[in-house]
Amino acid sequence: MSVRSACLALALAAGAGITAAPPASAAQSAAADTRVVFPASVQQGAMVIGRVPPGSRVTHAGRTLRVTGYGSVVFGVARDQAGPVEVRVQRPDGRVETVAVRVDARDWPVERVGGLPPKTVSPPKAVAERIAREQARVAEARTRDEARAGFAEHFTWPVEGRISGRFGNHRVYNGTPGAPHSGMDIAAATGTPVRAPASGIVSFADDLYLTGGTVVLDHGHGVSSNFLHLSRMDVEPGTEVRQGEVIGAVGATGRATGPHLHWGMNWFDVRIDPLLVLERR
Ligand SMILES: [Zn+2]
Repeated sequence: MSVRSACLALALAAGAGITAAPPASAAQSAAADTRVVFPASVQQGAMVIGRVPPGSRVTHAGRTLRVTGYGSVVFGVARDQAGPVEVRVQRPDGRVETVAVRVDARDWPVERVGGLPPKTVSPPKAVAERIAREQARVAEARTRDEARAGFAEHFTWPVEGRISGRFGNHRVYNGTPGAPHSGMDIAAATGTPVRAPASGIVSFADDLYLTGGTVVLDHGHGVSSNFLHLSRMDVEPGTEVRQGEVIGAVGATGRATGPHLHWGMNWFDVRIDPLLVLERR
């Protein structure tokens, strides 16, 4: 399938830091370049990669999407998205096409998390400001829109282990309802190396009150991963990371009941489900 090979070719080119040249098969796939291709349906929390004629202007959810030289675009579907989402594609020749992608609803079970240090569930007033300040810094890191194509790689697990918490589940902390779980928890021992699930550039790395050792990896086009509760961080902002490279180690820092990796993903401020990204292909 030409869409897949195009994505991978560009990803490899970006990873190697070279300018993407037209592939040898460009002539063969020229006909396909005029098509607009999006999945007919996705699940809540999905990362959606589509294909448009290169040079198109693509808008979705009030944003103009960055388009790769091969015509790949990406956006995320929120956990609570009800009903279809629309993508507007203006081709280089000016013709406009509007594509609707159906969104299938999911069930969100309740997860009860007990035994947390009370100060992390209801932080004392003195640290509330610190938490807000730290979360604003992480939010800022997620506003980037870089021309890199790590998002199009075939994502791999950052650590191997049992899934101990799923994306989107309702969370009750020490009996108090909290926000839905923003990522996926993978059980692993403290010190287990955490590997980049796809290439990117580190946009944030610091030790935070709620999330402990926190690394954000920018995969391009607004797609980012965050890795929380790390016992060790081996990267700093600006570090270029390739898929599979070690970025830190599993820990239990911040609000955590025990050692595990929390892996979250975003499309800008929209949280998406890493498990769906792993299962994309
Ligand atoms: Zn978690």
